[in-house]
Amino acid sequence: APVIHVVGGGLAGAEAAWQIARQGLRVALHEMRPVRKTPAHQTEGLAELVCSNSFRADDPTSAIGMLHREMRALGSLIILAADAHKVPAGGALAVDRTHFSECVTRMIAEQPLIELRREEIAGLPPRDWDNVIIATGPLTSPALAEAVRDLTGEKDLAFFDAIAPVVHRESIDMDKAWLQSRYDKAGPAGTGADYINCPLTKDQYESFIDALAGAEKTGAKEFEQFADTPYFNGCLPIEVMAERGRETLRHGPMKPFGLTNPHTPGVKPYAVIQLRQDNALATLYNMVGFQTKLKHHAQVEVFRSIPGLEQAVFARLGGLHRNTFLNSPKVLDHALRLKADPRLRFAGQITGCEGYVESAAIGLAAGLMAAADHKGEAFRPFPATTALGALINHITAGHIETIDAGPPSFQPMNINFGLFPPLAEKPPSSEGRRLRGAEKAAAKKAALSARAQRDLAAWIGAQ
Ligand code: FAD
Repeated sequence: APVIHVVGGGLAGAEAAWQIARQGLRVALHEMRPVRKTPAHQTEGLAELVCSNSFRADDPTSAIGMLHREMRALGSLIILAADAHKVPAGGALAVDRTHFSECVTRMIAEQPLIELRREEIAGLPPRDWDNVIIATGPLTSPALAEAVRDLTGEKDLAFFDAIAPVVHRESIDMDKAWLQSRYDKAGPAGTGADYINCPLTKDQYESFIDALAGAEKTGAKEFEQFADTPYFNGCLPIEVMAERGRETLRHGPMKPFGLTNPHTPGVKPYAVIQLRQDNALATLYNMVGFQTKLKHHAQVEVFRSIPGLEQAVFARLGGLHRNTFLNSPKVLDHALRLKADPRLRFAGQITGCEGYVESAAIGLAAGLMAAADHKGEAFRPFPATTALGALINHITAGHIETIDAGPPSFQPMNINFGLFPPLAEKPPSSEGRRLRGAEKAAAKKAALSARAQRDLAAWIGAQ
């Protein structure tokens, strides 16, 4: 009989089941398709790619390429199938989606320790399953999602993501912006100067509103679908707020009250955009209340018109999508188990990572953790300097408590360099010459990549 149950045969679930079998344990994989469909999947294949066929850059000096490399080193089924069915795509790892999914389905079917059951788990898994991985993805079936929501509480399972753009801290011009919390309030983890503030004059505000109105938008239809869900309140896209009245934003996320610009003594800002710390390392800041359906290029253009953000480098752009995900830093423990019911472990996009590869990576980690639990062994965490470690830390510990935080600030994220601890060494140099600009950035990435490779090798060596 299976000792571990994996619910959901997508990117994360297929990988988790594979890793458990590699540990010599019996596992049941429960996939509801084709018995029950999702709004996005077209086939009954495991690990179906619902949209793009790209696993993104394979270059090991990119954050995503580092994740590929680490998964290869750990015998990932998803990366193995991707490598076997890749199509030409420049520096990206892109796949023939049909052959890729068929390959994963066949490898799972032929693995004798995995039993594939085509059924929906339409509620909490039976009580006698004591080691379960839930990897049901962004489109988790409603019956299961509701049951999980009963355990987590209403606020800690979201049904869509309202993503505000995230900016690299070092790209913000602090000669124009300044640090201050509204009314200098210091919360439980705050100093009274927790937010970065970007000021706008009346003219700048008026132009900003016009720019929003004129900018190119995406997916109006998809948006309308959200508009009548009860979960939508308080998360309107900024361009929709702006359409409701020219002053709406100034009374909402752009309100200037309780803030004093030290660069222009005596002159009150007409409107302010606040950015809130987004990761524990304070390398990333999100634009508070700035979820948007503008096209990505339009976001870059419009947001760089904001004083202080002229040179902003975005770690991710804003969006609004259907997405079931947990407030993981709050409800999961460091080993991805639900604190309210630790026999349930979560993996994949439902944990608040984003992307095919990231989902599979968390599936890989969850599989190893579940296997270790069954064997009564302690799972040694991945080093924080590896892409796997950085991603898991974002999910389980990335939440920053700040005052007047509004809606929960935890939002799904792709792997990116902002999630890695900074290099301890001095900035890289070449033959004694200090590097600058693009050369310096490339050297830094190469150093982060080399550090991760070394640390993962040591981790594997110690197994
Ligand atoms: P999935 O791959 O969705 O797997 C979950 C599985 O669980 C599914 O097979 C589902 O049928 C099954 N399931 C659900 N509920 C139950 C249940 N109760 N019982 C049994 N089985 C169940 N990422 C990218 O990198 N690139 C993209 O282009 C991209 N496009 C996306 C487009 C859409 C419309 C969506 C929703 C997401 C997209 N993503 C994309 C994000 C994400 O990477 C993928 O959704 C990815 O497939 C997530 O992997 P997963 O394993 O967590 O979930």
